[in-house]
Amino acid sequence: MKAMVLRKISPIENEPLEWIDLPDPVAGPKEILVRVSACGVCHTELDEIEGRLQPRLPVVPGHEIIGKVEGLGPGVTKFKRGDRVGVAWIHSACGKCHFCLEGNENLCLAFQGTGCDANGGYAQYSVVSEDFAYLIPERFSDAQAAPLLCAGAIGYRDLMLSGIRKGQVLGLFGFGASAHIVIQLAKYWGCEVFVFTRSEEHRKLCKTLGAVWAGTPDEEAPQKLRAAIDFTPVGETVPKALRVLEKGGRLVLAVIRKRDLIPPLDYAQLLWDEREIKSVANITRKDAQDFLSLAAEIPIVPEVEEFRLEEANRALIQLKQGRIRGAAVLKISD
Ligand SMILES: [Zn+2]
Ligand SMILES: [Zn+2]
Repeated sequence: MKAMVLRKISPIENEPLEWIDLPDPVAGPKEILVRVSACGVCHTELDEIEGRLQPRLPVVPGHEIIGKVEGLGPGVTKFKRGDRVGVAWIHSACGKCHFCLEGNENLCLAFQGTGCDANGGYAQYSVVSEDFAYLIPERFSDAQAAPLLCAGAIGYRDLMLSGIRKGQVLGLFGFGASAHIVIQLAKYWGCEVFVFTRSEEHRKLCKTLGAVWAGTPDEEAPQKLRAAIDFTPVGETVPKALRVLEKGGRLVLAVIRKRDLIPPLDYAQLLWDEREIKSVANITRKDAQDFLSLAAEIPIVPEVEEFRLEEANRALIQLKQGRIRGAAVLKISD
């Protein structure tokens, strides 16, 4: 099969993903072989490629996989050939550690990430345990469904952890793939959404998706926020977001890594009055399943920019530069 493979950590500008032939993967016991039709491009891939996360090397990245089941390993009972399935960031969890037993498999001591600890979806085929794949609601095209698996499912977890309720004001810092889905969820829940982003293009997009107010992270918002989610890869937005939170408000940090340090935080001004900061790590299978049903019910309509598989480096460079409208998706087969 053809695949885009990472062999060496490098800045994405060097186009480190290599377009090569790999042997087709084979489904082992309880595993399914998926013929990949689309794979979303996520900011976490930049963290892997540039070394802020340590992927297994070499690795096929990609953790927003949509495809058809083409082969069944011994003992598979949950899927049949031809089913359209999705694979998300959670590739496996042990099921035995105390985190798993408490329902927090996202924190599993042996957590494995798709396209990081195991090969992912920047390829024509991928293999996954039947326990870590999801049926995809029919209303979404392959390209639309791909970003639901991370941008959407993690965004859903971010929103749950923010504690936001109907009628409250939510702030979103950064307006990429995840935020453009989260705003649709938050609107559905009856929240008012303020968006802070440096990109004029993203400010336009958020307005069409129902943002009440949009400005840059340095602008004064007309009202304090009950909760905020910071999707940006930089440290400087953390004090900016805390500054616009009301007393008792919570800031959720959605990214897996920040590119640089968070500046010193003035305790009296930014943290006292019971303001909180919470990070989000990974997702559980329940997050993915619950979100996929909700996304079909609302329905969420992801905006996607499509690229060919061999254009993955270019898609990631554009993502790093903040030049993707909605979510970038690699279209691999029909
Ligand atoms: Zn992701
Ligand atoms: Zn575990």
